Amino acid sequence: MVAAPAVDVRRWARTMSISSGAAADRHERPELDPAAARPTLGPEAEAAVATLLRLCGEAPDREGLAATPRRVAETLAALTSGYGQDLDAILRGAIFEERYDEMVLVKDIELYSLCEHHLLPFHGVVHVAYIPRGRIVGLGTLPRVVEVFARRLQVQERLTTEIAETLQRYLEPRGVAVVIEASQLCMSMRGVAQRGSRTVTSCMTGIFRQDPRTRGELLSLIRPTVGP
Ligand SMILES: [Zn+2]
Repeated sequence: MVAAPAVDVRRWARTMSISSGAAADRHERPELDPAAARPTLGPEAEAAVATLLRLCGEAPDREGLAATPRRVAETLAALTSGYGQDLDAILRGAIFEERYDEMVLVKDIELYSLCEHHLLPFHGVVHVAYIPRGRIVGLGTLPRVVEVFARRLQVQERLTTEIAETLQRYLEPRGVAVVIEASQLCMSMRGVAQRGSRTVTSCMTGIFRQDPRTRGELLSLIRPTVGP
């Protein structure tokens, strides 16, 4: 954590931030393009799930498990649907020329992803900020970019970097900052970490990396969820 800098209140007043975590706008959470999502991984995946159930000591054909292979094949298809998403198509139509040059921050974007080491979930929130240089992106597009990368097998560190690098590439802003705060079920369920422990990762480019004041301003704005 960077030492708290003196904050220029006038800049704060003009800092644009929205919180996507509020219950009121949860229903507005953008969905992935259903045409691109695979509805199921198919019969081969179902057979593999049945095999796993058997290897766990279960009887895959007992009543409670009869539909489980199909459900798992459908669920995994949904949770990995980010591979089939076209980032170009999502971002191309959502970028606008605009002279706004203060920080844009979307806080508390809900995150659900799967750890690639154990195929167990990690979940939490993503904060995405950038300082435009003549181009802005529709605010609803930022959660969609997060989902494209979250709906893949991931590690939190790479997810953080991929989101930041994508925004840097498409927006060419003065800087991008992505901070992810998440709980890893593969750690808590397996007893590797205390239940409730969270992992915080960040990736910063441009002015967020170079200027402690800008970085400090960002961290102040997201502190209610990241800090104690
Ligand atoms: Zn894991």
